[in-house]
Amino acid sequence: MCGIIGYIGTRPAAPILLEGLRRLEYRGYDSAGLAVLDGGELAVRRRVGRVADLARAVPEDQPGRLGIAHTRWATHGGVTEANAHPHLDASGRIAVVHNGIVENMARLRERLAAEGVRFRSETDSEIIAHLVARYYFGLAAGSDTVPPDLQGDPVESVRAALSRLRGTWGIAVMFADHPDLVVAARNGSPLVVGLGDGETFLASDAHALVPYTRRVVFLQDGELAVLGAAGVRTTRLDGASVSLDVHELEEDWGDGERGDFPHFMLKEIHEQPEALRQCISGRVQPEQATAKLGGLDLSPRELVGITRVGLIGCGTAYHACLVGATAIEQLARVPARAEIASEFRHQNPSIDPDSLYFAVSQSGETADTLGAVKEIRLKGGRVMGVVNVVGSSIARECGRGVYIHSGPEMAVASTKAFSNMVAALYLFTLQLARARTLGPHEGRRFAEELQRVPALVEEYLAAPGPIDALVRMVLDARVVLFLGRGLSSAVAAEGALKLMEVAYVPCIAYPAGEMKHGPIALLEEGTPVIVIAPRDHLRDKTRSNIQECRARGARIALIHTAGDDIAELADVAIPVPETSEWFTPLLTVLPLQLLAYKAGLALGRDIDRPRNLAKSVTVE
Ligand code: GLU
Repeated sequence: MCGIIGYIGTRPAAPILLEGLRRLEYRGYDSAGLAVLDGGELAVRRRVGRVADLARAVPEDQPGRLGIAHTRWATHGGVTEANAHPHLDASGRIAVVHNGIVENMARLRERLAAEGVRFRSETDSEIIAHLVARYYFGLAAGSDTVPPDLQGDPVESVRAALSRLRGTWGIAVMFADHPDLVVAARNGSPLVVGLGDGETFLASDAHALVPYTRRVVFLQDGELAVLGAAGVRTTRLDGASVSLDVHELEEDWGDGERGDFPHFMLKEIHEQPEALRQCISGRVQPEQATAKLGGLDLSPRELVGITRVGLIGCGTAYHACLVGATAIEQLARVPARAEIASEFRHQNPSIDPDSLYFAVSQSGETADTLGAVKEIRLKGGRVMGVVNVVGSSIARECGRGVYIHSGPEMAVASTKAFSNMVAALYLFTLQLARARTLGPHEGRRFAEELQRVPALVEEYLAAPGPIDALVRMVLDARVVLFLGRGLSSAVAAEGALKLMEVAYVPCIAYPAGEMKHGPIALLEEGTPVIVIAPRDHLRDKTRSNIQECRARGARIALIHTAGDDIAELADVAIPVPETSEWFTPLLTVLPLQLLAYKAGLALGRDIDRPRNLAKSVTVE
């Protein structure tokens, strides 16, 4: 969600800033802007819409070797050019970009207005520029004087301004009078500094830095960094010193480019076989009939001692948690529950030290999931990350966990990350189940079958069945109902989410047995109902639900196991290759991903960047 880029060095800043913004586009945004220092003045450009629109507004030979840039995902104030960042102070000599929310905005704005500040935007972020200026220029009112030693000091002015804020921020600040530095600070919104040769970069995530450098410093919450061309200095907000922890970014598989695919979403759907192999390889051990997840660092004794498992996520990650919880409870015989992070963190959860929690997030930056992690840790609980982005906030806050190794996922609508989260949770299920209840024979069968899944996914994607007929069913539907039981109930929820977010088609997902307790009232002649009913122990129960829908005139689309005669009940039937009951979600989800993609395409939607959505949701 939203992105920040900064540069200071010897090259023209504008092209580097624009390229950085492009690489952050996948996070989701509604407007963009940049400021560069040009001959002692700040040159600022802002545009509503795409980074490409902003790029057209910036002269190709724009001078300036220092600058900051931003993609905004509006929280306070509409999507307008005036509200786009950077925001300037009244003198126009201080520029600020901000990611996050200033929670005490109303009070600060009122006080600044009383001191004579005239606001030019409706944002919370503009406050920061005026507060910094207040200290930097010594603009004080009444008895509230500014200490003289702050005046003219860019770093201390930012520090003083931040001490007045409540809320979350990743910020970058530049001063027309200081061509030698950019000040950055983080509290709840990610920032990473890239160290180059005589140049230094700043970005919201490391992905944007990869073309320039692999040496990075992840800022921690409560830190302030001063970037110069020669490097970076960091301190705590209270001035305490911190040692610089330089990381070398590992080579990741996948390249974050679209290649020959028209959209990232389609590319990522087709990357699933390889992504699954990356996740499973070296971790599943059929000879020992188990799996090994080094990052968890749990001894067999600790595994046996786990009394409860909690899986926490938002959106698609939550759906992966639903699958994981079902598998863990049924196979490892440990009570397991999936939790929606934004609910969990605010319900004063009782945390038992023998429980094990997993925080599941593709980006590793999801604000609510990170909030839940902090709540669990505060209460003495154990929590591990299940994330894709190496070095992300959740990975670092948890210290231990599993990387899902999906490779960069650029489309806002998650596909391959869902599959890899599910696969990672299956690996843990196997490890836990083998330490407790599962015999070697069943363990080996589970491990071998999991290893077969990438090839089955490949087989399905090579011949995906009548997806176009499915698309025609939903295009002008008033509502689409998704039904499934057990593991397939989570797949139904994921299918509905995909179709809503990519194609904006209203969808409702329900466990099939619940249908008659409400949603059945929606059914009329022709209502599309998408049923996920692979050959499993619940299939015959779902078969009855299909009959109930048909009896009321609904049109049935069925995702089923190839060769199953249940297909006779469907208007459109999509077979997927047969696998063990446990792994059906990794196959049945595929046609639903393709449905969302193709329906979005047919309706002319912005597939990779659906309206109002952001890839990594870094605000609550
Ligand atoms: N709250 C700020 C605004 O609405 C920043 C939003 C963002 O993180 O992009 O402008």
